[in-house]
Amino acid sequence: MSYCQVIVDITSGDVDRVFTYRVPKGMELCPGMRVHVPFGRMSRVEGVVVEMAESCDLPPARVRDVTDTLEDYPAIIPSMLDLAMRIKETSFCTLAQALRLMIPAQMRGQRICERTKEYAVLTIDEAVRGQVLASQKRAPKRAQILAALMEAPGGEMAMEEIRRQLGDSRPAVLALEKMGFVRLERRESLRSPYGAMEQLAQHDPELTAQQKDVLSSLLPAVDAGKGNFLLYGVTGSGKTEVFIRAVRRAAQIGKTAIVLVPEIALTPQMVMWFRSRFGEDAAVLHSRLSPGERYDEWRRIRRGDVRVVIGARSAIFAPLENVGLIIIDEEHEQSYIADNTPRYDARELARMRCEREGGVLLLASATPSMRSFAMAGRGDLTLLEMMRRVKNRPLPQVNVIDMRDELKKGNRSVFSGAMLDSLKRCMDEGRQAILFVNRRGYSTFVSCRSCGYTVTCTQCDVSMTYHMSEHALRCHYCGQEAEVPSVCPECGSKYIKFFGTGTQRVEEEVHKYFPGVPVLRMDNDTTRTKDAHETLLSAFRRGEARIMVGTQMIAKGLDFPNVTMVGIIAADAMLKLPDYRSAERTFQLLTQVAGRAGRAEYPGEVILQTYDPEHYAIEAASRQDYRAFYMEEMQRRKKALYPPYTLIARILIESEKEELAQAAAQSAMRQMEAFLERRAYLRKFIAALRVMPCPVARIKGKSRWQVTLKIVDKPICQEAVGKMSEIAQAPVEGCQCICQVNPSSMM
Ligand code: ADP
Ligand code: ZN
Ligand code: ZN
Repeated sequence: MSYCQVIVDITSGDVDRVFTYRVPKGMELCPGMRVHVPFGRMSRVEGVVVEMAESCDLPPARVRDVTDTLEDYPAIIPSMLDLAMRIKETSFCTLAQALRLMIPAQMRGQRICERTKEYAVLTIDEAVRGQVLASQKRAPKRAQILAALMEAPGGEMAMEEIRRQLGDSRPAVLALEKMGFVRLERRESLRSPYGAMEQLAQHDPELTAQQKDVLSSLLPAVDAGKGNFLLYGVTGSGKTEVFIRAVRRAAQIGKTAIVLVPEIALTPQMVMWFRSRFGEDAAVLHSRLSPGERYDEWRRIRRGDVRVVIGARSAIFAPLENVGLIIIDEEHEQSYIADNTPRYDARELARMRCEREGGVLLLASATPSMRSFAMAGRGDLTLLEMMRRVKNRPLPQVNVIDMRDELKKGNRSVFSGAMLDSLKRCMDEGRQAILFVNRRGYSTFVSCRSCGYTVTCTQCDVSMTYHMSEHALRCHYCGQEAEVPSVCPECGSKYIKFFGTGTQRVEEEVHKYFPGVPVLRMDNDTTRTKDAHETLLSAFRRGEARIMVGTQMIAKGLDFPNVTMVGIIAADAMLKLPDYRSAERTFQLLTQVAGRAGRAEYPGEVILQTYDPEHYAIEAASRQDYRAFYMEEMQRRKKALYPPYTLIARILIESEKEELAQAAAQSAMRQMEAFLERRAYLRKFIAALRVMPCPVARIKGKSRWQVTLKIVDKPICQEAVGKMSEIAQAPVEGCQCICQVNPSSMM
């Protein structure tokens, strides 16, 4: 008799363990296979087999049979089963939740089926074809179909195609089948998500000396199946080509590779480069794939048809076997941390996968995260550097403009004199420009000049943004709209003014100063539809617009050879956020945006406008000096005891009722204090333990409170983090509680 241990697909904590089932005679099972089992009073629940067993300690009457299997292969490969266990341990979630990450959502509950196409295949000998055709003279439809099939390569056509050419033909084909002249066949067909993508087969460029250098360390590591690297390469140094060569090596030695990018919609170029060099061997897991496309790509990977998978965060779960290389591009990006349960960090999972499967981990960035660069300093990552741009192109020249001086000169416009001059020069030379603004909408807030009243959302504690196209105020947290007041609701004054600059305002100003110059705006408002990103980016590439105005989303990874000028409208907007990473994020963003200029033959110029030119993040970004910024920032973090010296765990509590949120937060605080009371040895590692309302105290009508623990990052301190998570998991009436470790947003 044979048994198996099953995890059922029910995510509540109290069923978070394996259950034993009997394997009926004749059923072939192995770990990773999905099954239906009876569970409690439910007759049919999906589950995953995690282990097989020869015997079972339970009395036979208490053990039930596996009902059936969902697929005849393990949907979850062994390395993914291991990874799920690790996620359960490190992200404080149930195993069922972790396993859900491993297969496309559509596969659960069998909401999708494999798509097949029907083909008509000629079954008659060459020699008798003429004769057969003649025999159908009095049935013109049948004769047409036969003739078409005889013309078609291989003597076969998809039914769809026959219908397209000859109209409804099904009855005629069925008649021909009866006569034994054709055979009908169903074949699997995979939806291809690459329809719109340009498919130019490219050949390899000659490597630069730097690229060769870096590869001379990387390739032997890929061969040996071991190594963790950080590639620090300035913008335009040619990191992608390094990725391509390393992936190719992995493929040559029979292994596979995963390439993670922050947001796949924003990296059509990376995808194109890989597709053009690897063709069908590359799969793309795109966030905007249709459920069917996503499922088909998953199956192509699972079947082993694919050598390299490119995708955003969740592509780390690609069911590739024999992974020899995982690359994480722009590794400093927050998007590698999941914001829903289970809260995993794709960089950590990549490390685990590489360790287990004998692969090389390659993190890459022009502005590495503090954490990774510190790890390189300690030798936990091997640092590889590319300090020059391809072909020794210079890094763009950055001119810092102090906007306080502009005000003194009486210039109240969005653009400084220098910005206008530079834009004009760029347009005269027939080149393209990018203008970066960190907020969408027209103005960032609306306020009364007389009394200082600011229009805030009724549901959230944030000011509302004016959107010109709808002439309405909109909240960027909950989407609620409101009318623009004509007089101040507080004091009745008419001096209602718009402050702060959004993308719409900049677009309008560009039209004013450069009438007739085509402008394109790229922000969350203009990219809501499926292919909007790609459409806008390729229009800009073709030169249909000369100036692109956009938010964060234009900062990353784009390579437009004709862009020589980049304007940053307000460099310091982000510095004021109440988050210990605001300087780091400002530096990263400014450096990345500046890096879009002058990437081909023509040198680039960057105009950076700021009210705070002496700030070390802005200063260092203007010189594109990562190391200077890193040294300064690490000193500050050390002094203020921020990560990577410490880690921050926070319990976030949300409730419709302010009192409930506050009470729950205070109760959580007391539990944590009591816990630490009993553990004197942890006390000296604690930098802070606080309870307070969140910086944004209300979102979507819910009050938000937090308990934050700042503790030295040592293995022994994990116990305290575990306790935070445990407290957050205990249900509290009327509240939602979650525990986050180093949350991507502290708001
Ligand atoms: P990064 O990601 O480091 O910012 P990219 O990989 O986008 O840089 O490369 C910058 C540009 O240089 C791209 O247009 C790329 O095609 C080109 N490039 C990269 N390597 C080479 C090379 N060895 N020879 C010529 N051009 C190259
Ligand atoms: Zn007022
Ligand atoms: Zn709101």
